[in-house]
Amino acid sequence: MQLLGIDLSVERLQFIVVLLLIAGVLLYIRFLRKYRKPLRDQEPQDMNQGPMSDTEIERYARHLILREVGGVGQQKLRKSKVLVIGAGGLGSPVLQYLAAAGVGMLGVIDDDAVSLSNLQRQVLFDEDQLDMPKVFAAEAKLNALNPHITIRPYNRRLTENEAQDLFADYDLVLDGTDNYQTRALVNAACVAGETPLISGAISQWEGQVSLFDPANGTPCYACIFPEEPADGLAPSCAQAGVMGALPGIIGAIMAAEAIKYITGAGQTLAGDMLIFDALYGESRKIGLQKSAECSVCG
Ligand SMILES: [Zn+2]
Repeated sequence: MQLLGIDLSVERLQFIVVLLLIAGVLLYIRFLRKYRKPLRDQEPQDMNQGPMSDTEIERYARHLILREVGGVGQQKLRKSKVLVIGAGGLGSPVLQYLAAAGVGMLGVIDDDAVSLSNLQRQVLFDEDQLDMPKVFAAEAKLNALNPHITIRPYNRRLTENEAQDLFADYDLVLDGTDNYQTRALVNAACVAGETPLISGAISQWEGQVSLFDPANGTPCYACIFPEEPADGLAPSCAQAGVMGALPGIIGAIMAAEAIKYITGAGQTLAGDMLIFDALYGESRKIGLQKSAECSVCG
């Protein structure tokens, strides 16, 4: 047989056909690999199923040898879904420590952009990220910190309309916002959805942390703070100032409470409030009472 002027025997032709078939199969496998990868990336919830990889075991080694966390606790962290309200002074350390600890899915909602005056305390961000929406700046930093977790950025202000639906996707909410309206809205949605809430607040040199879980018998935020404080009684950090390291301290306590809540280690601040005064290096813990007249959880 003649092909392009070359004399081909039947055997040689069969050999070429087999070679072409093998080449076709190899190309098809490459094609499948190439187009399957993005599909996997679209399903990040699968990432934290199954056993931990060797790199994860090395990464979380100091947790794995800790009696109160161990492999079981680390798996709980890996499967947990935590939503952080506000990527500001408190949100920064909360997000960093929870990402580093291996919380499998970390949502963050904020409508602000990084500004120069943030960098005195919001150590998650840097000068190259000025004017960038905080949630995307946070996403970039947290992905670089720990690629084994999923970050969900929500570049908007939390509204009453979406709060309950959004919270339903998460096991735990951490609130580090600096205004009463948002705190009240977060609390109401947490109470309605029976989602536990770790709440932190800071001003000048003092901060406080509590875990509100009224579905398990504790007071809610509104039991303790039923009304918006009168003008001037609770000035924001922009109005009154805040010492740079304070959000780091209070945010790290919030992250520690979240890790304890998820793993079941020790005793959380449920039903208590921890108050820390950095100016005098003092802390105290006060018991909180449920209010019978609470309009939110009563
Ligand atoms: Zn209440």
